[in-house]
Amino acid sequence: MQEPLLLRNDTRVHMKVPKEYACPECRRQRRSCICGKVTAFSNRIRIIILQHPQEQFKVSNSAALAHLMLRNSSLLTGLSWKSFKAVAGEKEIPSQWGILHLKGGRNSETPVEIFGRNGSLMETSFQLKGIIAIDGSWKQAKALWWRNSWFLKLHRIVLNPDFKSIRNQSKEEGLSTIEAIAFALKNLGEKPVVSDTLISQYKNLIKTIK
Ligand SMILES: [Zn+2]
Repeated sequence: MQEPLLLRNDTRVHMKVPKEYACPECRRQRRSCICGKVTAFSNRIRIIILQHPQEQFKVSNSAALAHLMLRNSSLLTGLSWKSFKAVAGEKEIPSQWGILHLKGGRNSETPVEIFGRNGSLMETSFQLKGIIAIDGSWKQAKALWWRNSWFLKLHRIVLNPDFKSIRNQSKEEGLSTIEAIAFALKNLGEKPVVSDTLISQYKNLIKTIK
Protein backbone atom coordinates (compact mmCIF):
# COMPACT_ATOMS: atom_id res chain seq x y z
CA MET A 1 0.00 0.00 0.00
CA GLN A 2 1.13 3.49 -0.76
CA GLU A 3 2.41 5.53 2.19
CA PRO A 4 0.50 8.77 2.69
CA LEU A 5 2.66 11.82 2.05
CA LEU A 6 1.09 13.67 4.92
CA LEU A 7 -0.05 11.87 8.01
CA ARG A 8 -3.45 12.15 9.60
CA ASN A 9 -3.74 15.32 11.71
CA ASP A 10 -0.44 16.46 10.26
CA THR A 11 -0.12 20.09 11.33
CA ARG A 12 1.82 20.92 8.15
CA VAL A 13 -1.54 20.94 6.38
CA HIS A 14 -2.46 24.07 8.32
CA MET A 15 0.80 25.94 7.85
CA LYS A 16 0.45 29.28 6.14
CA VAL A 17 2.76 31.38 4.00
CA PRO A 18 3.07 34.95 5.38
CA LYS A 19 1.05 37.11 2.99
CA GLU A 20 3.88 39.60 2.40
CA TYR A 21 6.21 36.82 1.22
CA ALA A 22 3.70 34.99 -0.96
CA CYS A 23 3.83 34.90 -4.75
CA PRO A 24 0.47 36.28 -5.93
CA GLU A 25 0.05 33.43 -8.42
CA CYS A 26 1.04 30.16 -6.77
CA ARG A 27 0.81 31.66 -3.25
CA ARG A 28 4.00 29.93 -2.26
CA GLN A 29 6.89 31.80 -0.63
CA ARG A 30 8.56 33.78 -3.42
CA ARG A 31 11.83 31.92 -2.96
CA SER A 32 10.02 28.62 -3.60
CA CYS A 33 7.68 29.94 -6.31
CA ILE A 34 6.61 27.16 -8.69
CA CYS A 35 4.95 29.31 -11.36
CA GLY A 36 7.52 28.68 -14.06
CA LYS A 37 7.90 25.02 -13.20
CA VAL A 38 4.49 23.45 -13.67
CA THR A 39 3.16 21.81 -16.81
CA ALA A 40 -0.02 23.53 -17.96
CA PHE A 41 -2.85 22.08 -20.06
CA SER A 42 -5.63 23.51 -22.21
CA ASN A 43 -8.50 21.70 -20.54
CA ARG A 44 -11.83 21.35 -22.36
CA ILE A 45 -14.13 21.41 -19.33
CA ARG A 46 -13.73 24.80 -17.72
CA ILE A 47 -12.93 24.88 -14.01
CA ILE A 48 -13.80 27.65 -11.57
CA ILE A 49 -12.46 27.28 -8.05
CA LEU A 50 -14.19 29.22 -5.30
CA GLN A 51 -11.73 29.43 -2.45
CA HIS A 52 -12.62 30.15 1.16
CA PRO A 53 -10.42 33.08 2.34
CA GLN A 54 -8.86 30.98 5.11
CA GLU A 55 -7.38 28.63 2.50
CA GLN A 56 -5.64 31.38 0.57
CA PHE A 57 -2.14 31.21 2.02
CA LYS A 58 -1.93 27.61 3.11
CA VAL A 59 1.35 26.00 2.09
CA SER A 60 -0.51 22.99 0.73
CA ASN A 61 -2.63 25.22 -1.53
CA SER A 62 -3.82 22.65 -4.02
CA ALA A 63 -6.36 25.05 -5.54
CA ALA A 64 -3.65 27.51 -6.63
CA LEU A 65 -1.68 24.66 -8.19
CA ALA A 66 -4.75 23.36 -10.07
CA HIS A 67 -5.40 26.87 -11.39
CA LEU A 68 -1.79 27.25 -12.54
CA MET A 69 -1.94 23.94 -14.38
CA LEU A 70 -5.32 24.39 -16.06
CA ARG A 71 -5.31 27.22 -18.58
CA ASN A 72 -9.10 27.12 -18.82
CA SER A 73 -9.67 27.85 -15.14
CA SER A 74 -10.17 30.65 -12.64
CA LEU A 75 -9.52 30.93 -8.93
CA LEU A 76 -11.74 33.30 -6.96
CA THR A 77 -11.28 33.86 -3.26
CA GLY A 78 -14.23 35.03 -1.20
CA LEU A 79 -17.33 34.09 0.74
CA SER A 80 -20.15 35.06 -1.58
CA TRP A 81 -20.76 35.95 -5.21
CA LYS A 82 -24.02 37.46 -6.30
CA SER A 83 -24.87 35.09 -9.12
CA PHE A 84 -23.68 32.26 -11.32
CA LYS A 85 -23.14 34.68 -14.22
CA ALA A 86 -21.09 37.01 -12.02
CA VAL A 87 -18.71 34.08 -11.55
CA ALA A 88 -18.83 32.25 -14.89
CA GLY A 89 -19.69 35.06 -17.33
CA GLU A 90 -22.84 36.48 -18.91
CA LYS A 91 -23.02 33.91 -21.70
CA GLU A 92 -22.86 30.85 -19.49
CA ILE A 93 -25.94 28.79 -18.68
CA PRO A 94 -26.20 27.13 -15.25
CA SER A 95 -27.85 23.99 -16.64
CA GLN A 96 -24.62 23.23 -18.53
CA TRP A 97 -22.52 23.42 -15.39
CA GLY A 98 -21.98 21.26 -12.35
CA ILE A 99 -20.71 21.88 -8.84
CA LEU A 100 -18.57 19.42 -6.97
CA HIS A 101 -20.71 18.53 -4.03
CA LEU A 102 -19.59 18.49 -0.40
CA LYS A 103 -16.90 15.93 -0.16
CA GLY A 104 -17.98 12.55 1.05
CA GLY A 105 -17.11 8.89 1.14
CA ARG A 106 -17.75 6.21 -1.40
CA ASN A 107 -21.45 5.52 -1.77
CA SER A 108 -21.68 4.03 -5.23
CA GLU A 109 -19.77 1.85 -7.69
CA THR A 110 -20.00 4.64 -10.26
CA PRO A 111 -16.91 6.88 -9.91
CA VAL A 112 -18.72 10.12 -10.72
CA GLU A 113 -22.45 10.75 -10.59
CA ILE A 114 -24.21 13.84 -11.90
CA PHE A 115 -27.54 14.80 -10.39
CA GLY A 116 -29.94 17.28 -11.93
CA ARG A 117 -31.49 20.14 -10.04
CA ASN A 118 -34.53 18.02 -9.25
CA GLY A 119 -32.29 15.35 -7.75
CA SER A 120 -32.53 12.93 -10.68
CA LEU A 121 -29.45 11.01 -11.75
CA MET A 122 -28.22 12.10 -15.19
CA GLU A 123 -26.76 9.88 -17.90
CA THR A 124 -23.00 9.51 -17.43
CA SER A 125 -22.53 10.75 -21.00
CA PHE A 126 -23.98 14.13 -20.03
CA GLN A 127 -21.53 16.76 -21.25
CA LEU A 128 -20.73 19.45 -18.74
CA LYS A 129 -19.33 22.71 -20.03
CA GLY A 130 -17.83 23.69 -16.72
CA ILE A 131 -17.33 22.69 -13.14
CA ILE A 132 -17.33 24.78 -10.00
CA ALA A 133 -15.13 23.44 -7.21
CA ILE A 134 -15.12 24.70 -3.65
CA ASP A 135 -11.76 24.92 -1.92
CA GLY A 136 -12.13 24.63 1.82
CA SER A 137 -12.77 22.26 4.67
CA TRP A 138 -16.13 20.57 4.91
CA LYS A 139 -17.26 23.28 7.32
CA GLN A 140 -16.03 26.11 5.09
CA ALA A 141 -17.69 24.53 2.04
CA LYS A 142 -20.94 24.34 3.96
CA ALA A 143 -20.63 28.06 4.76
CA LEU A 144 -20.21 28.84 1.05
CA TRP A 145 -23.27 26.74 0.15
CA TRP A 146 -25.24 28.67 2.72
CA ARG A 147 -24.17 32.05 1.34
CA ASN A 148 -24.50 31.29 -2.38
CA SER A 149 -27.99 30.03 -3.05
CA TRP A 150 -27.32 30.04 -6.81
CA PHE A 151 -25.25 26.85 -6.32
CA LEU A 152 -28.62 25.09 -6.32
CA LYS A 153 -29.14 26.01 -10.00
CA LEU A 154 -26.21 23.82 -11.02
CA HIS A 155 -25.95 20.09 -11.44
CA ARG A 156 -24.46 18.36 -8.48
CA ILE A 157 -21.38 16.24 -9.12
CA VAL A 158 -20.85 13.49 -6.57
CA LEU A 159 -17.46 11.79 -6.44
CA ASN A 160 -17.12 8.22 -5.28
CA PRO A 161 -13.37 7.59 -5.40
CA ASP A 162 -12.09 4.10 -4.64
CA PHE A 163 -8.87 5.46 -3.16
CA LYS A 164 -7.86 7.67 -0.25
CA SER A 165 -6.46 11.16 -0.51
CA ILE A 166 -2.67 11.48 -0.76
CA ARG A 167 -3.02 13.68 2.31
CA ASN A 168 -4.82 10.91 4.15
CA GLN A 169 -7.49 13.30 5.31
CA SER A 170 -10.43 12.19 7.38
CA LYS A 171 -13.27 10.50 5.53
CA GLU A 172 -15.47 13.56 5.88
CA GLU A 173 -12.85 15.74 4.27
CA GLY A 174 -12.41 13.35 1.36
CA LEU A 175 -10.10 14.43 -1.42
CA SER A 176 -8.10 17.64 -1.58
CA THR A 177 -9.38 20.17 -4.12
CA ILE A 178 -6.85 19.26 -6.81
CA GLU A 179 -7.52 15.54 -6.38
CA ALA A 180 -11.27 16.12 -6.63
CA ILE A 181 -10.82 18.17 -9.82
CA ALA A 182 -8.47 15.57 -11.33
CA PHE A 183 -10.85 12.73 -10.50
CA ALA A 184 -13.87 14.56 -11.90
CA LEU A 185 -12.07 15.54 -15.11
CA LYS A 186 -10.78 12.02 -15.67
CA ASN A 187 -14.24 10.54 -15.36
CA LEU A 188 -16.00 13.22 -17.37
CA GLY A 189 -14.04 12.82 -20.56
CA GLU A 190 -10.94 14.99 -20.19
CA LYS A 191 -7.68 13.43 -21.44
CA PRO A 192 -6.18 11.15 -18.74
CA VAL A 193 -2.79 12.90 -19.00
CA VAL A 194 -4.33 16.06 -17.54
CA SER A 195 -5.53 14.31 -14.37
CA ASP A 196 -2.41 12.22 -14.03
CA THR A 197 -0.17 15.29 -14.23
CA LEU A 198 -2.33 17.22 -11.76
CA ILE A 199 -1.79 14.42 -9.24
CA SER A 200 1.92 13.95 -9.89
CA GLN A 201 2.61 17.67 -9.51
CA TYR A 202 0.49 17.80 -6.38
CA LYS A 203 2.65 15.02 -4.94
CA ASN A 204 5.74 17.07 -5.76
CA LEU A 205 4.23 20.09 -4.02
CA ILE A 206 3.51 18.11 -0.87
CA LYS A 207 7.03 16.69 -0.85
CA THR A 208 8.45 20.21 -0.66
CA ILE A 209 6.47 21.09 2.50
CA LYS A 210 8.80 20.96 5.45
ZN1 LIG B 1 4.56 31.68 -8.00
